[in-house]
Amino acid sequence: MSASQRYRSTRSASDASISFEEAVMMGLAKDGGLFVPSSIPAFPDSFLTEWKDLSFQQLAFQIMRKYISEQEIPSDDLEKLIEKSYSTFRAPDVTPLNPIDEENGVYLLELFHGPTYAFKDVALQFLGNLFEYFLVRRNASAKSELDREKITVVGATSGDTGSAAIYGLRGKKDVSVFILYPTGRISPIQEEQMTTVEDKNVHTLSVKGTFDDCQDIVKQIFGDKEFNDKYHVGAVNSINWARILAQMTYYVYSFFQLRKNLGTDAASKIRFVVPSGNFGDILAGYYAKAMGLPVDRLIIATNENDILDRFMKSGRYEKTADNSKPAEVKATYSPAMDILISSNFERLLWYLIRDNLAEGDDKKAGSILNEWMTQLKSTGSVVAPESVVAAARRDFDSEKVTDSETASMIKKVYHSHPRKYVLDPHTAVGVTATYRNIERDSTTKESAKYISLSTAHPAKFAEVVNLSLEGVDGYSFEKDVLPDELRVLASKEKRLNLIDEASVEKVKSAIIKALESA
Ligand SMILES: *Cc1c(COP(=O)(O)O)cnc(C)c1O
Repeated sequence: MSASQRYRSTRSASDASISFEEAVMMGLAKDGGLFVPSSIPAFPDSFLTEWKDLSFQQLAFQIMRKYISEQEIPSDDLEKLIEKSYSTFRAPDVTPLNPIDEENGVYLLELFHGPTYAFKDVALQFLGNLFEYFLVRRNASAKSELDREKITVVGATSGDTGSAAIYGLRGKKDVSVFILYPTGRISPIQEEQMTTVEDKNVHTLSVKGTFDDCQDIVKQIFGDKEFNDKYHVGAVNSINWARILAQMTYYVYSFFQLRKNLGTDAASKIRFVVPSGNFGDILAGYYAKAMGLPVDRLIIATNENDILDRFMKSGRYEKTADNSKPAEVKATYSPAMDILISSNFERLLWYLIRDNLAEGDDKKAGSILNEWMTQLKSTGSVVAPESVVAAARRDFDSEKVTDSETASMIKKVYHSHPRKYVLDPHTAVGVTATYRNIERDSTTKESAKYISLSTAHPAKFAEVVNLSLEGVDGYSFEKDVLPDELRVLASKEKRLNLIDEASVEKVKSAIIKALESA
């Protein structure tokens, strides 16, 4: 099966013909769609016994092997890529499972033990190594520096995600990375994380303006054909298929960890709760379930930017519930989930549409989705038929969580946990959704076990955490939250590169200057 794995665009009405390498290097398909595999492979029949004692890395290999053909990446190379990607994690089992409330069956899956203390490291450490691997291979026969294929990754960040991209790409041959962020609008720790990296291929641009200005500039650079042809602009945003793939591992791994923790092989009802924004994280759980992992439900937790929650309740996929006003992103306590549209949701929609068509009618699903996406773009709204919403409800529940609930949950867990555990605000959104789901189900006999995904370390969101725990007896950010690795950043030298105006021309010349002097 793996020998024939190919990829198709969610908006395409033709056959799946794209290789894994092309899907990874292109990111987005030419027609604006996202890449999906030609088929979802199944786990082996005996995987529950055969895979239960595998390490995180061994499991990653088994799963990835099913999506990447041996001809594209030989097994020895794939093993090395995985080994290298997760050697940068501080926790021996990469993503440890922490029983925070065993009485109620609540377990936190800690995804923040990578270099930048955020779950995005799990995917971006791997993606960075993949980029390097493909470029090294493409450049093997280059005779001179001028012959080498190089890429220039350009991205914008509101603070949290830029550092994960930087740490994924630092020091990679033939890759340069430029991350734009709004001057004075990201936290000191976030700025320190990005600007103290010494590798020559890493550049940060502090742009006088807002995050939206930064994002607009990046979009214009992507649309600039001349610039693109010359500098091969690439992206590492959350629609890249390799990121979804890398995230599947921790669903399967934590499933086995939980079973061991419970001391039973008996099938418990296991639910995953995922703080969601662009829908990339939870989509990996959907694939794991579709491959055969016995997951009871996947629970989408959103903040007040609730497009996903509204879709699950009404079938309407639209930027705003109130069309009389222009749609605006709300700034919440969980900024990494502040979105209007969830870019990866398009992949789920494709599967939901296809599941309602005759067997094998993949091409038709592509043309239907293409129409939906065109309509979404022009009117800001799509209404899915009941059959599609019903299909979504078979696998997913959803909960929407407010800022004040988020802050209360940080406080509640701090008080109730014996070692005064501090949640980051994104994780707190998920934990709030978890307890709500437990309450909803309190009448059923067999209670479920919950794996609630913890997507960031609280030190990255000091402001909200401190606000939530303000005045709490004995609480100290320095003592209870801040890890030494982040503490020392404050004393390192920062490389600041100020762009004094939100201008695409100024950003482009800064990029060109840096590239030509490299
Ligand atoms: C990106 C991010 C999320 C949301 O993940 P999606 O894949 O976009 O749904 C949640 N929490 C944190 C801390 C993040 O950085």
